[in-house]
Amino acid sequence: MPVSGGMAHGVVHVLKDHFDEPEPETIPPERADAELERLRRALDTTREEILALQSQMIEGGGVVEADIFEAHLLILEDESLLKQVEKRVRVEWLNVDYAYYQLMLKNINALRRMSDPYLRERFLDIKDVTQRVMRHLRGELLETPMFDHPVIVVARDLTPSDTVQLDRGKVLGFAVETGSAVSHAAIIARSLDVPAVVRLAGISEELHSGDVVLLDGDSGLLILNPSESTLDESRQREAEAEEREDALLLRRHEPAVTRDGQPVLLGVNAEFLDEIPVIKDSGAEEVGLFRTEFLHLADPDASEDWLADAYRQVLEAMAPQLVIFRTLDLGGDKVEDSYLQNPEPNPFLGWRGIRLSLGRRDFFKRQLRALLRASSGGRTGIMFPMVSAVQEIIEARKLLAECQSELAGAGFEPPQQVLIGAMIEVPGAALAAEAIGRQVDFFSLGTNDLVQYTLAVDRLNARVADLYQPTHPAVLRLIEMTVEAGQKCGIRVGICGEIAAEIALTPLLLGLGLRELSVSAAQVARVKEAVRSLDAGECRALWQSLRGDPDAAGVQQRSRELAQRCYPDLFEP
Ligand code: PEP
Ligand code: MG
Repeated sequence: MPVSGGMAHGVVHVLKDHFDEPEPETIPPERADAELERLRRALDTTREEILALQSQMIEGGGVVEADIFEAHLLILEDESLLKQVEKRVRVEWLNVDYAYYQLMLKNINALRRMSDPYLRERFLDIKDVTQRVMRHLRGELLETPMFDHPVIVVARDLTPSDTVQLDRGKVLGFAVETGSAVSHAAIIARSLDVPAVVRLAGISEELHSGDVVLLDGDSGLLILNPSESTLDESRQREAEAEEREDALLLRRHEPAVTRDGQPVLLGVNAEFLDEIPVIKDSGAEEVGLFRTEFLHLADPDASEDWLADAYRQVLEAMAPQLVIFRTLDLGGDKVEDSYLQNPEPNPFLGWRGIRLSLGRRDFFKRQLRALLRASSGGRTGIMFPMVSAVQEIIEARKLLAECQSELAGAGFEPPQQVLIGAMIEVPGAALAAEAIGRQVDFFSLGTNDLVQYTLAVDRLNARVADLYQPTHPAVLRLIEMTVEAGQKCGIRVGICGEIAAEIALTPLLLGLGLRELSVSAAQVARVKEAVRSLDAGECRALWQSLRGDPDAAGVQQRSRELAQRCYPDLFEP
């Protein structure tokens, strides 16, 4: 399933999320020295690899991430660990792979049992180091150390915490076994503007790091060892696509106004600080959604000062534009690794978004205080995810007011006027939108979740993917109700789910009355051009004729037909 367009030709890097347990072997005593020498070489290579990663991080401004590698080096250089391995090799005549692995596993398991959550999380550092050392012991990847050069990332699944660890500047594309168009690998691929294909069953076992592939994000193909003629064909297609893209980009900074004069505001969705130059140049008029989970996952212990500084960087870079920060949407599919140890039976219906934030007040207040402190850097919006009841907004606003007076007491600059919003992504919130609307300055429709909760279809589950229908009449009615409630309350209503970027659905969204669309940076120019080619009156009439139509596929088709009539060129890959 193609989820992010474009072509990539390059070397694969398989992200292994598990250990291949080495087998115990008895070695002849005369091999002991050679075994230990093999371990020393693997440790040296790992050390070089970590140092290289660390300096790359520092160069890229990721000082906090670079500290993680400091911990990794300490584990790697721990003399007492090495002595224990040596003993097992020399006394029990065990192969070094097994001796090292067993010892590290013992440490990992000991840490996992710790009650202190901070210490418990440290098992990941040991796991990471062990994985690297094991790979080098087996001679895997010695010629292609991780992220030494650009790679196509292949994985079973890619969680947000995996993506924060990637050196994103060196990712050429993603090929993933699980997921969907609204899974985070897909969202990140679109923000990085690299191709991605999901649902490639078995790919992470079948491919090996170092394999050469062609990844086609337009038709959903992954070709192993592509022939020269296949490559020629893909280069040709890519050159044509680039030409079309260049033409589109020429008008990206101009406003998007429909043929009959309706202005539509285009915002951009972002996740990382290193995206700032790209989002700034995308042609967007605001940041409609800054997903703060990713900064958090990069360093769950980040201080209030560090967060305030990071948020301020975004605000100052984007000023005078508005930046809407979404408070942490942890839980569901966006989890910290430590959390995976105690999974909820139903994470999407569990402790997620605003619920988790309200349940961990100190943690929530750290983020709110950081946002308020940053707000003197530019026009700030704060919005809350997964709202299901108006009380949550009232509660969150109370905490915000508390933070405000604490900051004033501590002598901080008074925060600027901050806009407060609610994400409408739970059907109950759409149904109660009027009451919620009286407590906020804006709504943002999170259709990725709204579709999954309305239709009871897990957004990541391939088995029920055909039931994930954004044009289902129930979903469209909820969107319409939200727009109507927004109008009654006199507040802005935007949409930041992935369908905002689907140009086949732009006629339908405009017909529903939406006038603010927030999409990934790479899509801004294209969606603006789609808007310019449409007539809002015609879109309205389209929606009038489709309201209540039970045939989701038919509704989608009707919208696509109007779109293809108005901007056929935009449908070329
Ligand atoms: C959504 O649910 O539509 C949304 C924008 O948020 P996320 O994809 O991060 O859940
Ligand atoms: Mg959501």
